[in-house]
Amino acid sequence: MSDLLHVFVFEHIAVRGALVQLDAAWQFIRSLRTYPEAVQSLLGECVVASALLASTLKRGSGNVILQMQGDGPIGLLVAECSGDFGLRCTARYSEVIVDGPLAELLGNGRCAITVGAMSGSRRYQGVVPLEQPTLAGVLESYMARSEQLETRIVLFARNDAASGLLLQRVPERSEIDADGWNRVVHLGSTVSADELSTLAAPMLLRRLFPEEDVRLFGGRPLRFECSCSSERVVGMLKTLGREEVEQILAEQGRVEVTCEFCGQCYTFSPERCHQLHL
Ligand SMILES: [Zn+2]
Repeated sequence: MSDLLHVFVFEHIAVRGALVQLDAAWQFIRSLRTYPEAVQSLLGECVVASALLASTLKRGSGNVILQMQGDGPIGLLVAECSGDFGLRCTARYSEVIVDGPLAELLGNGRCAITVGAMSGSRRYQGVVPLEQPTLAGVLESYMARSEQLETRIVLFARNDAASGLLLQRVPERSEIDADGWNRVVHLGSTVSADELSTLAAPMLLRRLFPEEDVRLFGGRPLRFECSCSSERVVGMLKTLGREEVEQILAEQGRVEVTCEFCGQCYTFSPERCHQLHL
């Protein structure tokens, strides 16, 4: 479905929606690093969810960072969607991982959702415990608690595609159809992984909601994008401090930093460190 984000509204029900369909971008992300299947699957859900959450923001609100941390086999999972819908993700994990509910994969943990510019004061972070068996459930409870918005989220991640559907009640619109929310949530929940990842948005929405008037807005392209750079790595090394950098140089002869998101390796010789006042 060529990596698109669509948003849509129901004409006669106070509900808005978003649809994320990733194939090539997801396959590219998978090609960057080999993960155990359960990690990869949760990572795919995270990437899709970050784009779905970004779609609910007002234009220009910056990026969305979804970060799950726990004391289980998966210690950390991060997915980011930038303001112009560039996606990246990474995970840290230990030991052999068997697929299971979130509580088994991440253990006791939390999910932090950060929204806003990369730096500056307009950043906002909400945190929810991982008390639901799925990421979709965690995000639904985040939306209900932090945003007071009733939301239904469906997420799928396979090898070839990752996709998701978000339905959200719009509080400011007066409800004409009292049962509308329950009806579309019920219909939306029936979507299969195959439908969500292979059907074009107009056909998918017609199939899911045949009786409803749905207005679909043009698709926004999604792609892999990493914001790492040599300048950022230098900034990070400066934060680390001269003593630490000198110790690394003494032990290894150079400083090597590999981006966890894209795998890009940044190498600094002792001369380069000196030039950069590291
Ligand atoms: Zn990178």
